Amino acid sequence: MNFRNLSVAVGMLLVFLSCNQNPFTGKKTLAVVPNSQILPMAFQQYDQFLQENQVVTGTSEARMVKDVGQKIATAAERYLNANGYQGYLEDYRWEYNLVNDDAVNAWCMPGGKIVVYTGILPITQDETGLAVVMGHEVAHALANHGQQRMSASQLQQVGAAVGAVAVSEENQQMFQTAYGLGTQVGVMLPFSRSHETEADKIGLTLMAIAGYNPDEAAELWRRMKANSGGSAQPEFLSTHPSNDTRINNLEAWSDEAKAEARKYGVTNFKS
Ligand SMILES: [Zn+2]
Repeated sequence: MNFRNLSVAVGMLLVFLSCNQNPFTGKKTLAVVPNSQILPMAFQQYDQFLQENQVVTGTSEARMVKDVGQKIATAAERYLNANGYQGYLEDYRWEYNLVNDDAVNAWCMPGGKIVVYTGILPITQDETGLAVVMGHEVAHALANHGQQRMSASQLQQVGAAVGAVAVSEENQQMFQTAYGLGTQVGVMLPFSRSHETEADKIGLTLMAIAGYNPDEAAELWRRMKANSGGSAQPEFLSTHPSNDTRINNLEAWSDEAKAEARKYGVTNFKS
């Protein structure tokens, strides 16, 4: 068996052996490619995205994105540390950037690499609305939903490519599509409804621990829904399908999120 075949065999073995636990739901999820392989790819793709797009700096909106992002990240760290997941975010390198683009969109790549598009700001309206969106996106990343968007073989291909010297254009495109950078390539993959529900619930807890009023989450999605009328469907809505069930869920979970936040000494929730 030559080295290449051996690598493939070892890779295949990893596909079957590695499993992650979602720290928020306790559910086992398949981790086809470990963070040590996925994160370098994510960091490289993120830097490339920033180079190819117009990053907004020095404005109050850009500062707000960094400020809210930092608070959500801190909330995630506090939550994970308190629930026996110390070290879960060890390889994360949080970064929060506002990009000048009319698309109604935001995403968080594995490793805490976040982009908010200026096009979503008229809908988020303020810091708390932004916290809803960022909490939700960070939740997708923490729960490894992006990985689960790719098929096992696709992920393995990306993982193998990261291990090799060159990353093919095809692999890059697959990765971008799976992690929501799809506006660049014109393809967006929707998250499944169960992943959406999970991200809503986790996001609500994160925003509450960060000191934002979780009651505002339902309001944000109402505005998002109102904005979706007409022919131009915002990107965020096409990948984050909104419906009345979601809004009802968010309202029903809000008190629970506040109760969770109180465990961390948070008693005031900014609306
Ligand atoms: Zn989502």
